[in-house]
Amino acid sequence: MSEAKASPLLVIGAGIAGVTAALEAAEMGSEVVLVEELPSIGGRVMRINNYFPKLCPPSCGMEINTRRLERNPRIRVMTSSKVTAAVKTDSGWAVTVTTAPAFVNSKCTACGDCAEACTTMVPDPHNLGLNEAKAIRLPHLNAWPKRYVFNREAVSDNEAKKIADACGFGAIDLDATETTEDIEVGAVVVATGWRPYPLENLEDLGGDIDDVISNVQMERMASTGGPTGGKILCPSSNEPPKKVAFVQCAGSRDVNHLNYCSGICCLASLKQATYVKEQIPDAEVTMYYIDRRAPGRNEDFLLKVAEMDGVDLFKGKVGRIEKVKKQLKLHVEDVENVKLIEADADLVVLATGMVPNAIDDDLALFTRKDEEGFVLDDLESGVTVAGVARRPEDVASSVRDATGAAARAVIAAGGR
Ligand SMILES: Cc1cc2nc3c(=O)[nH]c(=O)nc-3n(C[C@H](O)[C@H](O)[C@H](O)COP(=O)(O)OP(=O)(O)OC[C@H]3O[C@@H](n4cnc5c(N)ncnc54)[C@H](O)[C@@H]3O)c2cc1C
Repeated sequence: MSEAKASPLLVIGAGIAGVTAALEAAEMGSEVVLVEELPSIGGRVMRINNYFPKLCPPSCGMEINTRRLERNPRIRVMTSSKVTAAVKTDSGWAVTVTTAPAFVNSKCTACGDCAEACTTMVPDPHNLGLNEAKAIRLPHLNAWPKRYVFNREAVSDNEAKKIADACGFGAIDLDATETTEDIEVGAVVVATGWRPYPLENLEDLGGDIDDVISNVQMERMASTGGPTGGKILCPSSNEPPKKVAFVQCAGSRDVNHLNYCSGICCLASLKQATYVKEQIPDAEVTMYYIDRRAPGRNEDFLLKVAEMDGVDLFKGKVGRIEKVKKQLKLHVEDVENVKLIEADADLVVLATGMVPNAIDDDLALFTRKDEEGFVLDDLESGVTVAGVARRPEDVASSVRDATGAAARAVIAAGGR
């Protein structure tokens, strides 16, 4: 007796959660379409310098996954693509996937000859616009697929032709256009992740001051592939800071900004304190917090950093930051002594929280969301959620979450 063939699964977002969900489902036997809006996979993790708890570089975890992806013929990866329409059917969803023009196609060998011929510079999205990169470039060192991307609209027709002529593999197609494809799927995993809460909304905390940066900017600054080649510097002077302040709950657990705790910011700042101490051993580091949150086995990491020389964890709410004669001044509520104090710093890192990307996604697939914009499972409609699209969490929890989502989606699509 032959069994009915299960419909493919659609996974939206190829961060660590989406990639894990796609691999787990495919290794259970499902056909999977993995749709990612950026030109390469890995999501926000690829912008982290080192990740806790082991403090290894993001490439080590992703490399295993890309090898699993390459070996698995059941997964089709569509990068530079978005689901632009979705209609519920009796057997799942009929979706339309729109793919941006492939000015650089799969013949690209990443040799770099095109970039040699390119003189136009654009803000580098991988480094959050903190530096400039060639208009044609590899998205970042560990990009998968290892293929150049081209900001075609940034260069003149003349320069575009020179760039195309420099390619010896015929990989550059200046006439490429947007394409669309209709796909029938049995179930959907939403793994669209997060974006950082914007610094511009935190004027009281100096979000518009040059030496006040966000935690995600600190990750790029500490990375060798980042805008300063890995050096932690004050943006105003390009000098290493002597005093660094980490301000926790910058816009989080605050009715005026984000109501919730993002769960990872304390650990991210503790980790970043180690970046500072490794590079600038004499630096004084102070972390201002309301509550120290290091769930589970991460408590060990907190205690280790708290014991480091020159690291002070101070229970205090920072209400205002200003720059007075080149010096940053923090106005802090000293919670234990019930008084207001002032403190100095050369560099401030605001620990901003995670905003779900789905918050402004209006597709039918995203209709069940909580009041903060995190997506909820809708198993009756065959939609399940993985990673930070569901709730703020770290990589290990996102991976566990994605495995569960894959299993639910396989069942919803009739695969088991
Ligand atoms: C400062 C900071 C430091 C951190 N450091 C650590 C750490 O050291 N260790 C740790 O465990 N965790 C850390 N985290 C948390 C970690 O970044 C998250 O757990 C992780 O990114 C969650 O992965 P995700 O796949 O759910 O989301 P993401 O990484 O956001 O991936 C989502 C993917 O979906 C894509 N996407 C979005 N919308 C669409 C759409 N509509 N269509 C197609 N694709 C879409 C995005 O482009 C992206 O590739 C840190 C977080 C911050 C803020």
